[in-house]
Amino acid sequence: MQVLYKNTRNASEKVTASQAILNGLANNGGLYVPDVIPDLGLSVEELSNMTYKETAYAVMSKFLTDFTEEELKQCIDRAYNDKFDTPEIAPLVCVDDTYYLELFHGATAAFKDMALSILPHLMITSARKNHVTNEIVILTATSGDTGKAALAGFANVEGTRIVVFYPKDGVSPIQERQMITQQGDNTLVVGIRGNFDQAQTGVKKMFSDPELNKELNRAGFQFSSANSINIGRLVPQIVYYVHAWAKLFACGEISADDTINVVVPTGNFGNILAAYYAGLMGVPIDRLICASNENKVLYDFFTTGVYDKNRKFILTSSPSMDILISSNLERLIYRIAGEDAEKNAALMSQLGETGTYAITPKMREQLAVFYGNFADEEETREMIRELFTDTGYLIDPHTAVAAAVYRKYRDETGDEKPAVLASTASPFKFTRSVLCALDDEQDELTDMEMIDVLAGLTGLTIPRPIEEIRSAQIVHSTVCDVDEMESVVRQFLQIGEQK
Ligand SMILES: *Cc1c(COP(=O)(O)O)cnc(C)c1O
Repeated sequence: MQVLYKNTRNASEKVTASQAILNGLANNGGLYVPDVIPDLGLSVEELSNMTYKETAYAVMSKFLTDFTEEELKQCIDRAYNDKFDTPEIAPLVCVDDTYYLELFHGATAAFKDMALSILPHLMITSARKNHVTNEIVILTATSGDTGKAALAGFANVEGTRIVVFYPKDGVSPIQERQMITQQGDNTLVVGIRGNFDQAQTGVKKMFSDPELNKELNRAGFQFSSANSINIGRLVPQIVYYVHAWAKLFACGEISADDTINVVVPTGNFGNILAAYYAGLMGVPIDRLICASNENKVLYDFFTTGVYDKNRKFILTSSPSMDILISSNLERLIYRIAGEDAEKNAALMSQLGETGTYAITPKMREQLAVFYGNFADEEETREMIRELFTDTGYLIDPHTAVAAAVYRKYRDETGDEKPAVLASTASPFKFTRSVLCALDDEQDELTDMEMIDVLAGLTGLTIPRPIEEIRSAQIVHSTVCDVDEMESVVRQFLQIGEQK
């Protein structure tokens, strides 16, 4: 069965999977959604005998229907290999009656690797299928995690180049070091003298500059995007929820008709939307527990039916969840609006103009599967400390937000069903917050020194991606002003008007 992709803001546009991946975002700002969510078509018994790669093929082939079996299997083989530090790819670890689904064993020690390891391969395959001969130039603005995961994914992938802009003084020392030590002739990392919003605006300007795009095309290049609204990032994320369910069955924790709960630390709403899609495919998910930090827009949305981003932006210890506009929520809104592009577009333009919108009671009824709550900074620290003290299991602040919210959920509802909790980063990626949660006397050390102290204190091995950056050579040193971004890109691609 062929699955096509609809535009959430234009009822007349439909494209193939490979076109949706190449485009990233639709021209009018809409997102691509599958016109039907396919059924898994496999029993949990069958799934429980599959490796991660086999599960990836079983799930992704249902969505990416214009990829041949050979093409898709090749993408999967190139993504889920020894770039991961465990052959399981996404281990499920039971601690204190909760199943932590560890999504941080890839090249950059955060869950973005699960999708960004495969996106480059999906993208060049899509280019080939659509007879695109240009080299694909990925432009990314990052506030930290996405940049490194995208760099690691695209480095040395033939037919692609990647340029990452980050705010020179706006990322953590570990995050900056991860990026500026990135190898690969096709990579460029640039610090800008400005903030993340300015980096983002600069990138969007280049994307939508018709002159620049024409020039690029003449020189054999075209821009594309690796950010989390690309359907090529969403589909690979469905895989680990299916795999986790099958593993719970394989280890005898659940029987074939038991339901499970899923807990996700949420920012841009991509990861939890993938879990929702897994449920629609047939994974028996009872509740989807959406965990927010103090930027609790989503908690307010689920409890009131009103989305309202007009509030103070709070910097927390879980920076990848410091988000006031959760882009992927649009896909859910579109669905509960009865797949009505006009209705969805109206709500989204209201969001753009006023920063807020309200959904109807009928739309709200369809959100019963979601439970939203949040954890504040003290609860997050307490969760890290307590879990480690009681069990010896160390979690990062994002995962701790989810664990604290899950505890609130259980206290409120008494629901003790087996739960899969998405564990999204290695604690060594957020060393300062984690170490200070365990021992608040340590905060005068540098972030790099803290890595050793944390390893000593916990007896844990420093993950390879963190260990590597300490001795790695710095290979990127470009710094520019906001208005020089275009000229930096031109220079990298060696086209016109370079400075
Ligand atoms: C990106 C990220 C999240 C949030 O995931 P979304 O898909 O944006 O909701 C949570 N934790 C970590 C560590 C992340 O990098």
